[in-house]
Amino acid sequence: MRSSRRLEAETHRNIEVIWLLRHLKPDFKTIADFRRDNRTAFRPVFRQFVLLCRQLELFGRELLAVDGTRIRAVNNKDRNFTRASLTTFIGLADAKLDDYLQRLDQSDASESKTGGSRVKNLAEKIAAIRARRTRCKDMLAQLDQTGEDQISLTDPDSRAMAAHTHVGVGYNVQVAVDTKHKLIVEQQVTNQVVDMGQLTQTAEPAKEILGVETIAVVADKGYFKIEDIEACEKAGIVPYVPRPQRGPSVKAGLFRKDEFQYDADSDSYVCPAGQRLHPYSSSLLRGLKKINYVNKLVCDDCKIRLQCTGSKFRTVSRLENEAVLDRMQARLANRPGVLDRRRETVEHPFGTIKQWMNQGAFLMRGLEKVRAEFSLTALAYNLRRVLNIVGFAELMAALAA
Ligand code: SF4
Repeated sequence: MRSSRRLEAETHRNIEVIWLLRHLKPDFKTIADFRRDNRTAFRPVFRQFVLLCRQLELFGRELLAVDGTRIRAVNNKDRNFTRASLTTFIGLADAKLDDYLQRLDQSDASESKTGGSRVKNLAEKIAAIRARRTRCKDMLAQLDQTGEDQISLTDPDSRAMAAHTHVGVGYNVQVAVDTKHKLIVEQQVTNQVVDMGQLTQTAEPAKEILGVETIAVVADKGYFKIEDIEACEKAGIVPYVPRPQRGPSVKAGLFRKDEFQYDADSDSYVCPAGQRLHPYSSSLLRGLKKINYVNKLVCDDCKIRLQCTGSKFRTVSRLENEAVLDRMQARLANRPGVLDRRRETVEHPFGTIKQWMNQGAFLMRGLEKVRAEFSLTALAYNLRRVLNIVGFAELMAALAA
């Protein structure tokens, strides 16, 4: 129960709440103010409860599942504008204005017959479009100034999420869940649209609070980013992230990169035809050295070339730190069930929380307040889960200790 008005009602009728509050009956405003004034405390309280769960040995501390979900913000889709949508609107407005101005000229000529009402109508439409066009121009200028790529009018921190999430405008909630009892160890709310690049920043605080030297982390392919996977390894986190099948060869239905075997001893790739591709050229990608492996001679005579490339020879690229991905691939091959454990583990907290949150909608506006709101929600999830696992008496005894 999250609404302050409903909480106020409960203080009058719910025996457990009356007992808990010792007959205090704050009104909804007091409840809302308390939540607003103490918002910075909710995350530390969530973390304190995680420490208590650790004390109760409720964490396996061996495998974490990291995942993200999108939760709607208090911002209608029509109140969010991207650079592209603003530019499109300005183009359409210009075309419409030209059309209306032409019609206005024609109507001027026949004004005497219509009594001027048509001209007045057109003039009003032109004024409305000009006003909206000016607002769009102002918003574009604001985007140029801030370097952002979209603007939300009701909740300025919220962002339009990817269409397939069916969220419209919202926030990206990241959680790290321990697989033993599906308790949330770490949670973060960001307004980044994608999960890519968020693995280390979610898993590292979780590892710290669990107090372990190393821990395995499993995430879906949306987190596959070589820099992030390397950062995990450096932080003592052992990542399991499946490689997404993407790139021009996959799109064209040609041999995928993972069908080429890298041989570290000879620094070459063995292709599906059993031939070796050698370093040929290099370039930079996001500051990393990218080496291209080629063997033009063998490709020239290859019988399966049409399955491999649309050009005269195939190029396979490798980043300088790609050994980190090879190691992860070997780990995934040795532990095939780990990806299913990820799904089973994160489904429980996300399913429960979304049900509580009216199928996933924040009540507060602004990143800071939304973070506080989610800390409270994650705390409530953990609290209920612990009560189911250890029961009231043991939890109270641990709190008293
Ligand atoms: S086209 Fe070249 S890289 Fe591709 S399978 Fe044939 S020899 Fe190997």
